[in-house]
Amino acid sequence: MTSRVALVTGGTGGIGTAIVKRLANMGHRVATNYRNEEKARAWQEKMKAEGFDVAIVKGDVTSPEEAEAMVREVEAMLGPIDILVNNAGITRDGTFHRMKADQWTDVINTNLNSCFNVTRPVIEGMRERKWGRIIQISSINGLKGQYGQANYAAAKAGMHGFTISLARENAKNGITVNTICPGYIATDMVMAVPEEVRAKIVADIPTGRLGTPEEIAYGVGFLADEQAGWITGSNLDINGGHHMGW
Ligand code: NDP
Repeated sequence: MTSRVALVTGGTGGIGTAIVKRLANMGHRVATNYRNEEKARAWQEKMKAEGFDVAIVKGDVTSPEEAEAMVREVEAMLGPIDILVNNAGITRDGTFHRMKADQWTDVINTNLNSCFNVTRPVIEGMRERKWGRIIQISSINGLKGQYGQANYAAAKAGMHGFTISLARENAKNGITVNTICPGYIATDMVMAVPEEVRAKIVADIPTGRLGTPEEIAYGVGFLADEQAGWITGSNLDINGGHHMGW
């Protein structure tokens, strides 16, 4: 198989780590970003101990300048980026009638504006080379909405509009652009939800359990595959049946 260069934003997080490992296991050279040097080095050492050699560069995805610098650094270290996974994300939950402006802008900047900031410096090279895979990690709540998550649902829904427009613009350049909508996954983000709320969520999932980061990473590997060239402008729901249909 062809070994490609992949950049996974937020690769040190719960789902991100599984995506990094999946792409590395597929034979790709993988990079991610960090904000906190100490935390990042510890993560990199842990990955090394598990046999994964991951390039890690500094970059806050909410800053267009830092995002571009991060992309250029990855290119200098590993070569042109063929696979981009826009995975970095945060929540700042609260009912809308009490939501502060910074709860809104932090979430829109991190989950949605980051897609512009990171994809913009990557896509020209993909267009020139006539090959690319761009995958946004959206959310089930971007499809169905969620109490206390007007900011997050708006950002995640926005990723779909971004995806399908980019898919149209770049289809003739060999670039596929897709989203994955994870349901509730057992990562820090979800484990931070109060236990009684989590129990209600699980009770509502047809498979009767939370998903695993590896189950999301499997979807990323599928969409990033050489043979997935005719899958573009799609959304892949991976949610244990929690939200079906449109
Ligand atoms: P984590 O909180 O475990 O990881 C988030 C990652 O994003 C971390 O590496 C974090 O880095 C990074 N990040 C956050 N803000 C920035 C920033 N401004 N610049 C650079 N990196 C940043 O989250 P998950 O792994 O659970 O989630 C990953 C993605 O999946 C997110 O987009 C999330 O919305 C989505 N998702 C998650 C679900 C779940 O159930 N967990 C369900 C549906 C979607 P740092 O360590 O520096 O904070």
